[in-house]
Amino acid sequence: MSDHIGNRAVVLGGGMAGLLAARVLSEAYTDVLVVDRDTLTGVTGPRRGVPQGRHAHALLARGQQILEELFPGLGDEFAAAGVPAGDLAGDLRWYFNGRRLRPARSGLMSVSATRPVLEARVRARVAALPNVAFLERHAVLSLSSTADGGRITGVRVAAEDETGPGRVLEADLVVDATGRGSRTPVWLEELGYDRPGEERVKVGLAYTTRHYRLSSDPYGDDLSINPVASPANPRGAFFPRLHDGSSQLSLTGILGDHPPTDPDGFLDFVRSLSAPEIYEAVRDAEPLDDPVTFRFPASVRRRYERLRRFPEGLLVMGDGVCSFNPVYGQGMTVAALEAMVLREHLRLGVPPRPQRFFRDISPVIDVPWEISAGGDLAFPGVEGPRSLKTRLGNVYMSRLHAAAARDGDVTEAFFRVAGLVDPPQRLFRPGLVLRVLRNSRDRTAEDRTAVGRTTADRAVADRAAVSRTTGTGGAGGVGGTAETVGAVDAGSASGTGGARDGARTADRMASSGGTTG
Ligand SMILES: Cc1cc2nc3c(=O)[nH]c(=O)nc-3n(C[C@H](O)[C@H](O)[C@H](O)COP(=O)(O)OP(=O)(O)OC[C@H]3O[C@@H](n4cnc5c(N)ncnc54)[C@H](O)[C@@H]3O)c2cc1C
Repeated sequence: MSDHIGNRAVVLGGGMAGLLAARVLSEAYTDVLVVDRDTLTGVTGPRRGVPQGRHAHALLARGQQILEELFPGLGDEFAAAGVPAGDLAGDLRWYFNGRRLRPARSGLMSVSATRPVLEARVRARVAALPNVAFLERHAVLSLSSTADGGRITGVRVAAEDETGPGRVLEADLVVDATGRGSRTPVWLEELGYDRPGEERVKVGLAYTTRHYRLSSDPYGDDLSINPVASPANPRGAFFPRLHDGSSQLSLTGILGDHPPTDPDGFLDFVRSLSAPEIYEAVRDAEPLDDPVTFRFPASVRRRYERLRRFPEGLLVMGDGVCSFNPVYGQGMTVAALEAMVLREHLRLGVPPRPQRFFRDISPVIDVPWEISAGGDLAFPGVEGPRSLKTRLGNVYMSRLHAAAARDGDVTEAFFRVAGLVDPPQRLFRPGLVLRVLRNSRDRTAEDRTAVGRTTADRAVADRAAVSRTTGTGGAGGVGGTAETVGAVDAGSASGTGGARDGARTADRMASSGGTTG
């Protein structure tokens, strides 16, 4: 007699959220089946179902800790595979508001694995579990339920080459981890339930990524060079060196100021970053591919915890519940945190109750949502209500980044919170506030002049130049190649309207000196 709480759990989607769900479900169900429309086995490169996998992905410190807990020795496996790793606050070169943060030893690990490599390693560990199986190249079509719709009893799937109604996989529990395009809201409506309310923060973001083999070394001992988008310069980048000796350059632009996919436009964008060493490193480097774009119109949070009715036997996790602005690097870590909540529920020895699950993951999502959605409101062009708390928080964060350029303890405190290890309140403890005030006093004034007039103005000037040549603003190059089109988020609709937004933002920035603080 087993102590399992059910026979079969079916996980929809074999991305990071689905894999982590399968890992914890394997402790509680006799069989776990992961269904995905892609081929997964043996895949170590980007795949169609996860187009964002072509772009820089970092696992936050808390996610790292959880992965190591769920898959002991995973970090050693990465090391054995030659994946560079180091201290998040000490071995990565971070720029905020145009200033380099002073490095610090935080003890927080950062692994410079690409998303496909990270996912492949985690998938191999999940596949090695004796009671987990994968159903690949199968699309999920719909849910099946009891006649009254009160319980989900399975899922209808179809093989990729199959026409017709497909077949039903019976399940005691279905976990939807199909990502941002999750159909659960539609399926709920079809079953007579309400759709969850949605909160959206429109950021009009795009990533454009290219890989290089460098002929010079801009890194020194650092793993990555990351000029993060900020009100002083909304153009950002992540530039890690990879396990195979190549470098990945992901450029980020918001509010329609999208990094172009044509090589010249791409390089112009690189030149406008706050870290000039990136341009120096790539301008004569060997490109290994063409730039590809992923558009991310808005962060979306679905409020499942507020629904009064929800069918038994169904959970939703990962991006399907909340899809965060990716520049904060939170999505995979939040999926890991949700998996740990699910594990707690499973350990009660009874099937998880959906409404309790949603109620319990909601506070887990609150903090990263506040960090990212609240942080986005520091950009003048991002629409949304700015409470006093948000405004004060963003002023304080700008001073904190200025202080962190001088004080490594401030850098460490920041990354402990940004890495979702410490709660945000830790940034407001009296000792740290004093350090922030002391070390940022003259810096923020300098920021307004020096940084505001150099990086931001340069970005605006470059953008204007790009607009003049392409006639469509910074977003002009998007969608230029077939590969690019394949990588564009289906929900994306920013287009030229986004470029207009970008121009408005640029105007506002230019007139405000480029800062909000
Ligand atoms: C540009 C970009 C950069 C990012 N950078 C980071 C980062 O640095 N750090 C971080 O933590 N997060 C980052 N993220 C977010 C991260 O990718 C996600 O949060 C994370 O992958 C968890 O997503 P998920 O597993 O819920 O969905 P996904 O990763 O999107 O996986 C969904 C899976 O479901 C499958 N699927 C979908 N529909 C069906 C269907 N109908 N039938 C069968 N299968 C289906 C897909 O094939 C896929 O395998 C980034 C996102 C973007 C867009």
